[in-house]
Amino acid sequence: MIYKRLNHLRAQIRQAETVYNRKPGDVLLLAVSKTKPARDIASAYQWGLRHFAESYCQEALKKQRELGAFDITWHFIGPIQSNKTKAIATHFDWVHSVDSLKIAKRLSEQRPDVLGALNICLQINISGEQSKSGIVLDELPQLCEMVAELPNLRLRGVMAIPASATDFEEQRRPNKKLYQAVAKLGNPLLDTFSFGMSGDLTAAIAEGATVVRIGTALFGKR
Ligand SMILES: *Cc1c(COP(=O)(O)O)cnc(C)c1O
Repeated sequence: MIYKRLNHLRAQIRQAETVYNRKPGDVLLLAVSKTKPARDIASAYQWGLRHFAESYCQEALKKQRELGAFDITWHFIGPIQSNKTKAIATHFDWVHSVDSLKIAKRLSEQRPDVLGALNICLQINISGEQSKSGIVLDELPQLCEMVAELPNLRLRGVMAIPASATDFEEQRRPNKKLYQAVAKLGNPLLDTFSFGMSGDLTAAIAEGATVVRIGTALFGKR
């Protein structure tokens, strides 16, 4: 089941890369395994996936223990409470959901030196929904500047969860706005655009996504 869905997703990504003049292989399929058991991760791994994302710290740590022998790059994409920063800084390679200087500072201070810098994306609330985390776009230049100075973090880019839309052009619009805002900063270190989920990955790739975060379309309904 996972193999079939994965094949379909890979074809969909490849096609979007071609149609929208993206370099082949430019877009990373990040498998969102939250709420799914470790055996689903093992199955996707068997078919070549190496990047997995989790939203809940305790749940992720449990699965990481079960999958200790696997060579997985772990991404954290959920809301971050202060009392979880140490665990996140210790057990993940990437954090996509940083939306305050306070959380960024804690992650930097608590990142074990031996692990090297923690890759960071700043989460932007691009559609201005109250229910979503993230900074507003106007705050991006200043937060970028401050996070870039933290010694144990490596600022890589931005993450967004646009309001859900079924219309393709409507799906593209928020991503385009975010892409342009980042381009305007002219910072070559910002090479990661984490937007696009199961329902809007083609629109995301059309607007420059380098990471699509796919849960449902790979692992099935949660
Ligand atoms: C759950 C989740 C996803 C995956 O969503 P699907 O629609 O199931 O692909 C992507 N990003 C974040 C931040 C999530 O929490």
